[in-house]
Amino acid sequence: MAKHNCAICGAEIGLVSEQKLVDGNFICRKVCSKKLFKIFDKVNAALGDVTAHMEQVEKGTRIWNELLLPLKKSKDKTQKLKCLGTGGPLLYVSPTTGLVALVETNYKFFLFGKSQRACVYRLADLVQYDYEEEKVKGSDGKTETKEYCAMMFKDTAGMYGFRLGVGNSKSYESMAKYFDTLFGIQKTLGNTFKNAKRQMNAIKAFAGAVKAAKDGTLDEAQVAATVGALDASVYGDRTEWIKKADEALAAFR
Ligand SMILES: [Zn+2]
Repeated sequence: MAKHNCAICGAEIGLVSEQKLVDGNFICRKVCSKKLFKIFDKVNAALGDVTAHMEQVEKGTRIWNELLLPLKKSKDKTQKLKCLGTGGPLLYVSPTTGLVALVETNYKFFLFGKSQRACVYRLADLVQYDYEEEKVKGSDGKTETKEYCAMMFKDTAGMYGFRLGVGNSKSYESMAKYFDTLFGIQKTLGNTFKNAKRQMNAIKAFAGAVKAAKDGTLDEAQVAATVGALDASVYGDRTEWIKKADEALAAFR
């Protein structure tokens, strides 16, 4: 049986203890895979994506513990975090710092409590929060529908997109409305059609740029098209959110 070495820690690994990445590299399941979020797509990730995500988790967990968790526990109601999602990692929005944390909780040690890890994003970089559903077969053979809010953050290294579990389409609606309100986006009937088309183009351009950056074929025209597509009339004015987040993150550079 062929043995490989973990591309991160160098440990020798065999078939059952290895995780193959899309670029042909292997990482070990025992140590390195466990440092990644459970929802991180390892199968379609290259080594660079994995190490970027690891750095993201390390930094995010620090920001969560030192800045956001104290706000969550704060008695000052104006500092409160908004908790969103269900059935997996939860999303905490902090309007006073302009930050968003995706928090994974592991209850591994029954006696010693839980451990939490986080990916932290700038609220200003949230460019997509769309409804998505998936039919899955349960162990009893019955098909059930899982509902999600598909989220994507621009200019983000590591895990820039993920699906947040939502209870049902109603809780998705209120989630989307919450973000629309934060960004000052008014989805009136009159501009819905126009915006839908422009938003589609923006997301296509954005996804294309992300792919091109990965493949190393990103060109300047593509970047310009992406920036132009991310129009304030679709995404709201994010100036204040950028300012808040940069002030909050300054201590963590
Ligand atoms: Zn390893």
